[in-house]
Amino acid sequence: MTSCKQCGTCCQKGGPALHLEDLDLLQKKLLPISCLVTIRKGEPVFSPISGVVEPAKQELLKVSASNSWTCPFLNQTSNQCEIYKNRPVECRLLKCWDSAKLENIIYKDNISRWDIIKPDSEIFNILKQHGIKCSFADIEQLSKSGKSAPDIQAGVDEIIKKDLSIREQAINQFGLSLEKELFYFGRPMFKSLDYYFGKG
Ligand code: SF4
Repeated sequence: MTSCKQCGTCCQKGGPALHLEDLDLLQKKLLPISCLVTIRKGEPVFSPISGVVEPAKQELLKVSASNSWTCPFLNQTSNQCEIYKNRPVECRLLKCWDSAKLENIIYKDNISRWDIIKPDSEIFNILKQHGIKCSFADIEQLSKSGKSAPDIQAGVDEIIKKDLSIREQAINQFGLSLEKELFYFGRPMFKSLDYYFGKG
């Protein structure tokens, strides 16, 4: 195959991660934050290069729906991109029959929520605290610690509890919708336990 057959498979596996080149789309509000999900470092995410789910090597901002990995801009009836003329750079480079151009930019010049959230905003410090207290590095460390199952469970439970409680605080304080929660915090950490521990 040497051309796009518009099967929609690429766009169903996940929307693109955003790069500096895409900042303009955000500034022009062509990509509202309601369609952006933060992927924190270490969070398991589908890699378009390896074709499998693996921990993110750095923080990313991905185009995604709140309830599915399928890109929210994919028209699922026609399999067409609803923002084709303004699609992000990864989409312009992605060819399912030749991933060379896409591979060249993966993990290069990515943007993240920190390019959008102002350091003097009220939520900034809460997010920084959340990053320190609820990191995927700590989850990974626990998964490889060799501790007893109850000790690992207790450590994981503590992190998951903090993750949920900091989110709840921010949701109440700032009236965050689910979409905004996913932009500011990424997906709740309990959703990634299956990858690290083989259970949900
Ligand atoms: S923005 Fe368009 S091309 Fe890119 S993943 Fe979404 S539907 Fe596909």
